[in-house]
Amino acid sequence: MKYVLVTGGVVSGLGKGVTACSIGVVLKACGLRVTSIKIDPYLNTDAGTMSPFEHGEVFVLDDGGESVLDKERKGDFLGKTVQVVPHITDAIKERIESVAHVPVDGKEGPADVCVIELGGTVGDIESMPFIEALRQLFFSVGHDNFCLIHVSLIPVLGVVGEQKTKPTQHSVRELRALGLTPHLLACRSAQPLLDNTKQKLSQFCHVPAANILNIHDVPNIWHIPLLLRNQNAHHSILKQLDLLSIATPPDLE
Ligand code: ADP
Repeated sequence: MKYVLVTGGVVSGLGKGVTACSIGVVLKACGLRVTSIKIDPYLNTDAGTMSPFEHGEVFVLDDGGESVLDKERKGDFLGKTVQVVPHITDAIKERIESVAHVPVDGKEGPADVCVIELGGTVGDIESMPFIEALRQLFFSVGHDNFCLIHVSLIPVLGVVGEQKTKPTQHSVRELRALGLTPHLLACRSAQPLLDNTKQKLSQFCHVPAANILNIHDVPNIWHIPLLLRNQNAHHSILKQLDLLSIATPPDLE
């Protein structure tokens, strides 16, 4: 199983969901079987009771409920202290790996790629156990099986009219301090990124310029898979996941 993790920085509501879905669409168009997981780092027991005004459409699925506390009550931890690391992080990893292996396209066997969207913003207290679990997952599945895409904001200061990279630099630094280095950056901005903005991001965020994607404001989000395809996002992702040999050129028309 190959994993694509989509994280977000700077502000919420940036378009992580739309980016994760669009990446799934482009990878499917390359002939791959794709599944996805959305992680919302909140404590609500079931997603059906969360406000759709804050969280978008919520699809209510079968879920395992509160597994760590149930296990502790049953004595599965043999009286050991139950801690965020390793008990919660182990439960998160196990859940991700088991859900990722469930086929969702009616075919036999697991999909080729699982796109995971981590809700919230890197650095939030709520998402820390998830980031740690995903860091451990990255370590266990190995470099060729994991691609991290960080969605970030490139604001423009009205007076100066310049695309500012500093908030993205800080959020990438935050991610790296937590043990994760992004392979691709997906930059939300009002207008397409200028070349020197890309160069600066590449230099300061340690991401090759070819892996810096531009997701500027579009009138309709159905443009985003095409925007990604036109920037060869699939090539960077497939290369990272060592899938170039089995994928076909994306057919999105
Ligand atoms: P997040 O998952 O980061 O909270 P969403 O993917 O839910 O963000 O997107 C937040 C809102 O922004 C949605 O209404 C979405 O349609 C809109 N949006 C996302 N990307 C773009 C874009 N490139 N251009 C215009 N609107 C966008």
